[in-house]
Amino acid sequence: MHALIIRNAALPDGRTGQDILVDQGHIVAVGPALAAQAADSVDVGGLLVSPPFVDAHFHLDAALSYGLPRVNASGTLLEGIALWGELKPTLTREAIVERALRYCDWAVARGLLAVRTHVDTCDPRLLACEALLEVKRRVAPYLDLQLVAFPQDGILRYDPRRDDPSCTVSALALLQRSLDMGVDVVGGIPHFERTMADGAESVRLLCEEAARRGLRVDMHCDETDDPMSRHIETLAAQTHRLGLGGRVNGSHLTSMHSMDNYYVSKLIPLMREAGVSAVANPLINITIQGRHDTYPKRRGMTRVPELLAAGIDVAFGHDCVMDPWYSLGSADMLEVAAMGLHVAQMTGQQAMRDCYRAVTETPAKILGLDGYGIAPGCHADLVLLGARDPVEAIRLRAPRLKVWRRGRLVAQSASAEAQLVLPGRPDRVDFML
Ligand SMILES: [Zn+2]
Repeated sequence: MHALIIRNAALPDGRTGQDILVDQGHIVAVGPALAAQAADSVDVGGLLVSPPFVDAHFHLDAALSYGLPRVNASGTLLEGIALWGELKPTLTREAIVERALRYCDWAVARGLLAVRTHVDTCDPRLLACEALLEVKRRVAPYLDLQLVAFPQDGILRYDPRRDDPSCTVSALALLQRSLDMGVDVVGGIPHFERTMADGAESVRLLCEEAARRGLRVDMHCDETDDPMSRHIETLAAQTHRLGLGGRVNGSHLTSMHSMDNYYVSKLIPLMREAGVSAVANPLINITIQGRHDTYPKRRGMTRVPELLAAGIDVAFGHDCVMDPWYSLGSADMLEVAAMGLHVAQMTGQQAMRDCYRAVTETPAKILGLDGYGIAPGCHADLVLLGARDPVEAIRLRAPRLKVWRRGRLVAQSASAEAQLVLPGRPDRVDFML
């Protein structure tokens, strides 16, 4: 007798009528009409069962801090960074932990079971690192948290003595200390350094740090409308030089939206050759970029369809939820996928499915998650959606009817069905044709 069998599921790859057999936290078999018995049997009636959502880019140390100590009046990136600078000295470990745990609750309820979060290392106390390492341990039974050492104020630009005059170490030393403490991935922010040359130097230093330690790299890269911000070129070159292919990601890459087409025709093959992946953050890119434009006003998101066409892995991240940069959001990666789809005009059938992959399989690959997917041997981490396929899931921001982690039910939601009281009309609608 097995633990769980899910019957008559549609899968994201298009298969329908599939049973999924689960035992000891793993998927044992997948196929039509499996002749197996289980203690718990759930007939999902043809609805979509998906591996969990994965967020490739987030800031858990800032999430749910909206309004502290004040709101971002202009809504711009730079005011957000300044606001975070005001908030940072007032943070306590307990407050960061509490907010982060609360966000992880939201995530689980949305079927979001893996998050790569950047954590600010420009702090002589490394308070957020300590807090998020604690959160990582505490949520491990139900959510995979991957931490990126993120020097928010620039690895070369930030002087720790600004915050603690007695501090004797550099920003790079603080970042190294965070990695010693157990932070998983090396981050960076080359476009925020003082000069293009400093930006390039920061990419070199940080990639070499990652190479020495055998770690992955994920940099905030070219989050600007300046078409001359070309740090992704350096990131690809350093990835190639150090043999880091498959372990390096460029986040945002918004300058690519504004770059000269001829230059991009050289750049994208360089990224492909080096094995660099990309993460766009549609909700944030569409609200933060193009702020200096009048009209026409640029969208600012990176060139997602073109990167995908070149065979480059592209994921969508949430980036922010109720923090100094963004006052909205609720851990819903289907909202992220829907925004990405619209901003990139990815309305073809395959393109819409690519948008679903950008919040599931692709970020799982970028994070290097083990045992992700719906196949024998994979972890039994599964989400039952109130939709019949990935496109419908995006269209409806479908409710996560059930969420399983290692075969154990960890969240459930009601369907999105509404009751009607209209003469001569049906008494309920479920928004499906
Ligand atoms: Zn970010």
